[in-house]
Amino acid sequence: MRILVFNAGSSSLKFGVFDLAPGGALAQARQLYKGSFDRFGPEGCDFRDNAQLQPAPHRTLDEAIRAVPDAIRGIEGITAIGHRIAHGGEAYDGPVQITPQIRAGIEALTPLAPLHNPANLAALDLATRIWPDLPQWAVFDTSFHLTNPARATTYAVPAEWRQAGLRRYGFHGTSHKYVARRAAEALGQKLRALRVLSLHLGNGASACAVAFGQSIDSSMGMTPLEGLVMGTRSGDVDPGLFGYLERRLGLDIAQIEAALYSESGLLGLTGSSDMRDVEARAADGDAEAQLAIHIYAYRARKYIGAYAAAMGGLDVLVFTGGIGENSPSMRRRICDGLEFMGLKLDHDRNLAVDLDNRAAPQIQAYGARVNVLVTETAEQLMIAHEVASAMAAPERTPLRVPVAVSARHVHLCAHAVEALFGKGYTLTPDKPLRQKGHWAAHERVTLHGPKGEIANVAILGPLRERTQVEISRTDSFALGVDAPVRQSGLLDGTPQIRLIGPAGQFDTDGLIIAARHIHMSSADAECWGLADGDRVDVSLDRTGRGLTFAGVLVRVAENAFTEMHIDTDEANAAGIIGGAEGELGPDVVHAQI
Ligand code: ADP
Repeated sequence: MRILVFNAGSSSLKFGVFDLAPGGALAQARQLYKGSFDRFGPEGCDFRDNAQLQPAPHRTLDEAIRAVPDAIRGIEGITAIGHRIAHGGEAYDGPVQITPQIRAGIEALTPLAPLHNPANLAALDLATRIWPDLPQWAVFDTSFHLTNPARATTYAVPAEWRQAGLRRYGFHGTSHKYVARRAAEALGQKLRALRVLSLHLGNGASACAVAFGQSIDSSMGMTPLEGLVMGTRSGDVDPGLFGYLERRLGLDIAQIEAALYSESGLLGLTGSSDMRDVEARAADGDAEAQLAIHIYAYRARKYIGAYAAAMGGLDVLVFTGGIGENSPSMRRRICDGLEFMGLKLDHDRNLAVDLDNRAAPQIQAYGARVNVLVTETAEQLMIAHEVASAMAAPERTPLRVPVAVSARHVHLCAHAVEALFGKGYTLTPDKPLRQKGHWAAHERVTLHGPKGEIANVAILGPLRERTQVEISRTDSFALGVDAPVRQSGLLDGTPQIRLIGPAGQFDTDGLIIAARHIHMSSADAECWGLADGDRVDVSLDRTGRGLTFAGVLVRVAENAFTEMHIDTDEANAAGIIGGAEGELGPDVVHAQI
């Protein structure tokens, strides 16, 4: 399969054509063309045509893309175009084929990546016009990190900020995914058996902990500003600097932010953002450049320690990016002093690194426990690989449902309300629930069992014919009563529990652990070919700890809001905090009629 790949930035356009077998080894893919237009300006730009550098008249990204068909003339049989898109938010966990809706979805993410996504979209739009018959695909820099657990993605800030979307995402995902796989491939081991730390050190730089095949943390956060020292970006700083600089230098937020992006990092420390310059000046005795190198290496070394701790150990360290690939002295500085964790470089191997033909040489000392590899980042190849694999996968539209976590609650009969709250009492609806006509009451009750009590339990309305008390397995131990897993409403033979309210108590049966279920509207059920009582598997692999819930009961009602309900134990097992989305599996166990 032949894939044309674009990586568009505000001042450059990199592109390439790859020939590869879907799902084949990365090392076997062939690059048929490699080009870039760089440093657009009124005079034109630099054009790298395979290995040759020459001036070109194109002043803008727009003009450069129009020149691509000429550059790749003679290469036949391109089947699709893959675009690097910087930010995919929480929605895109893999490559997607562009449709008008997907394009709108990407555009809506612009506030999260104001510098990058607009250039990516501009390239996408132009390519769609130039090659209207080719499918266009988006591959996101953030997708690989969507497996990061909440403890890694959540900033300890007010709830309101988090609800507004503030969280860590991580970037360079395509690069980290590629180098982790390439390293495993070069070692002849399965990625899912390894704890890999990928250090991408280019103009932008980030570290990523890939534990047993999944990204679990990475050093860039909400934006590509957090983490390592970069060419012009600061990486980690104390957010207290905003207040200090405003008071001390009268700078406003926009000025500080702009300086952290484009006047900091190596540039801020030395006046040059280019590591080659900095290394040359340091070797000539320039103290500023020497300090910058120390800071750069120290920050990277700290992240190695942090991520080895996060993964509970380290099997492989991989260097990539312009600095990681080309600077033996920086690799050495970063690794020095890490012998205590089994990480040690071999001097000669480190100096002899040759990355031709997508090689991934090992440079650890003989006998060292941690393998250290160097490889080129090949983001474009990985984009081609992802697109080819996605195109070859059998087409299946995944059915997705929102997943809500039901905390313990009771449904009361009229008799119970009077016993608990007094004769003639009416419950006060407080919050409406998503199922139409259902609400949570202002009032609460206490559950009393032989082992203990659980206070402050929610009451859900409207009233029912029969009282039902829904708890989790953990709650059943706290109360000291065994409760069966039951479908709501099937209460015969269920255990007794005592409810306590302000006006009295009420002993009742109806204590259950609710069987996980999906409320489904008749329209969705019909559209998805499901009927009331069917059972399906639902996998929550994009959230938390990745769990498939087997045999989830489908409950169809005319006006239901389609949503899966699980209890708090199930949510904890799946690592869900707040909400999530589940994907319905293809196999359905149909209800016995
Ligand atoms: P980008 O992130 O823009 O793709 P690169 O991955 O090409 O950037 O990395 C650029 C960085 O790599 C620059 O700081 C450059 O100085 C550095 N670099 C390239 N070659 C060498 C080298 N031989 N020694 C040290 N640094 C190098």
